Amino acid sequence: MASRPPIEGHALVVAAGRGARFGGDAPKQYAPLAGRPVIRHGLEVLAGHPSIRAVRVVIHPDDGPAYADAVQGLGLLEPVTGGATRQESVRLGLESLVPLAPEVVLIHDAARPLLRRALVDRVLEALATAPAALPVLPVTDSLKRLSGGRIVGTVAREGLVRAQTPQGFRFRAILEAHRRHADTPATDDAALAGREGLEVALVAGEEDNLKITTAGDLARAEALLRAGLVPRVGQGFDVHRFGAGDHVVLGGVRIPFERGLVGHSDADVALHALTDALLGTIGAGDIGTHFPPSEARWRGADSALFLAHARDLVVARGGRIAHVDLTVVCERPRIGPHREAIVARIGELLGLAAGGVGLKATTSEGLGFTGRGEGIAALALATVLLPA
Ligand code: MG
Repeated sequence: MASRPPIEGHALVVAAGRGARFGGDAPKQYAPLAGRPVIRHGLEVLAGHPSIRAVRVVIHPDDGPAYADAVQGLGLLEPVTGGATRQESVRLGLESLVPLAPEVVLIHDAARPLLRRALVDRVLEALATAPAALPVLPVTDSLKRLSGGRIVGTVAREGLVRAQTPQGFRFRAILEAHRRHADTPATDDAALAGREGLEVALVAGEEDNLKITTAGDLARAEALLRAGLVPRVGQGFDVHRFGAGDHVVLGGVRIPFERGLVGHSDADVALHALTDALLGTIGAGDIGTHFPPSEARWRGADSALFLAHARDLVVARGGRIAHVDLTVVCERPRIGPHREAIVARIGELLGLAAGGVGLKATTSEGLGFTGRGEGIAALALATVLLPA
């Protein structure tokens, strides 16, 4: 895997706009894109990036429930409410980060869901030596100036570039720029940095990192997300034995029972099998490789941490989790009454709708260690879509 950029930062994602050009009922940042809300795609990349310490999103006051639905399981900072313009929303977001004293901040538009980790890396790398960094692309089409619907001139392409996000900045510098220029509109944050005389380093942007403005853009993003992705299936298996206790944790759900499961963590056999299945899709070892039982810090750990880590690794490879399927083998406790809660919890952690999480429970007809009630076994399959 690529080495980590030399600098760590916070991320601020702007999602407060109404997107008048998009149409439809829901704001574009919450529209479904390849099975999940537009906003979640970029947030998964930022939240899973090892050099991004925390992610704050600026939302519209009407979007609280849609936002909460979209970001389940990602572990983001609490959202803050934006203002009347993008510029005001960014400033409010920056002010909300002051108590965290970030060294650098990456400001990203929620409407650019095809953010890739490599672009985040390039912006962070540039910030190691420059106070601001801007991803840009060349202008290749001819540019014409119109007046009254008629061409009145051709604009030279030389010296023109297209600016994207995430734009990166030394935190104090961009905060000061926003405070000082709150009343003078700017089209993006790099423009404000320029007004302050900050040197803006240019890094290569990405054609695929498009901004969703119209329904057509959404269709293009969908096609880009699906193109070049191949399915991979991973398998996982785990067993934990019964011991003293009054509950077991299965699929992230606490189930009262006359015994407990023995293990270094919370012994959630179902999430362990799922974690291994996800790791299997990218050939990234097994759960013990990433969370050695010899390390005291994993004692009693919530296994949701392990599953979230595997999810982040898949996302970091440009992958998307399409489906998981789980079978739990035991005589008791009965899984049926907890099925809905388990499916919901796993869906929340992996960003999968209910149909994307399979859960079966079976006994082993009194045979073998599960039949004798000595423990619980779990088998899992995970299907992800990875860049070819
Ligand atoms: Mg285990």
